[in-house]
Amino acid sequence: MRLSHLTRIAAVAATVVIAATACGGQSSSLGSSGAAPSVAQGASFPAGSTMDTLNKAQTLRLGTKFDQPLFGLKGLDGKPAGFDVEIAKIIAAKLGIPADKITYTEAPSAVREEVIEQGRVDMVAATYTINAKRKERVSFAGPYYVAGQDLMVKSDNTTITGPDSLRGANAKVCSVAGSTPSENIKKYIDPANLTLFDVYSKCADALRTGQVDVVTTDNVILTGLIENSNGAFKLVNKKFTEEPYGIGIKKGDVAFCNFINQTLKEAEADGSYKAAWDSTVGKVSPEVPPLPAVAACS
Ligand code: GLU
Repeated sequence: MRLSHLTRIAAVAATVVIAATACGGQSSSLGSSGAAPSVAQGASFPAGSTMDTLNKAQTLRLGTKFDQPLFGLKGLDGKPAGFDVEIAKIIAAKLGIPADKITYTEAPSAVREEVIEQGRVDMVAATYTINAKRKERVSFAGPYYVAGQDLMVKSDNTTITGPDSLRGANAKVCSVAGSTPSENIKKYIDPANLTLFDVYSKCADALRTGQVDVVTTDNVILTGLIENSNGAFKLVNKKFTEEPYGIGIKKGDVAFCNFINQTLKEAEADGSYKAAWDSTVGKVSPEVPPLPAVAACS
């Protein structure tokens, strides 16, 4: 009787020690420096959940952009870098997966739903606006950031001052197939003046060579292209839509969505969201955005 009581106390004490160790391991690198969280050690997840599968596989397959400075730009090491990639690293760490175990698949705007549906990636973080049409095919965690559509022109352009200035102006506009900006801009221009490529870097090339007069997409994507333009381009700076960025996952995976949303909230609280921003977009836009209120998962 007495022995079993002591055994129980010992068992409880052991549990407390394990819990404390787990907490300590988690929080030790999350100090005020805002460093990315350390990889969760010994994390365990409900059997059969996506989290459990990924944790056991010890790899995370991410769909992201390869040509978007500040969000996902493939570097000389062959790996994309940017805010989307950093957000994915935070999620991977909570799954117990180190950053170097993430594999990257390029996910241009038009194929994001497809790569998720086909199971070619575990998630997509790719300046991916949450909207009802896309939700018919995939689910979204987040949002983790809210951008807005804007226009980019050559630095010496003084005539294009916002989307309304495009009406009747006959300006040639470039955007990307399958993107929300390519749809929104049709309210302002004759669709015959719209050129669509698969990626935004091709629009930037077309603006440089004068084949188009305007590039339109999210302001923060344009900011990255402007940073890399050596002063050739400027932002019109008349934001005219809201683009909440979500993490795309397999449709109906509510548990994984909730896990990501919880991870985002913790990342804001422990400084890793700020660190992700500071090391990427923050180099150009230092003000750290507040994490938007995450939406209910479905
Ligand atoms: N956020 C917009 C979208 O998801 C534009 C950026 C992009 O094409 O990735 O369509």
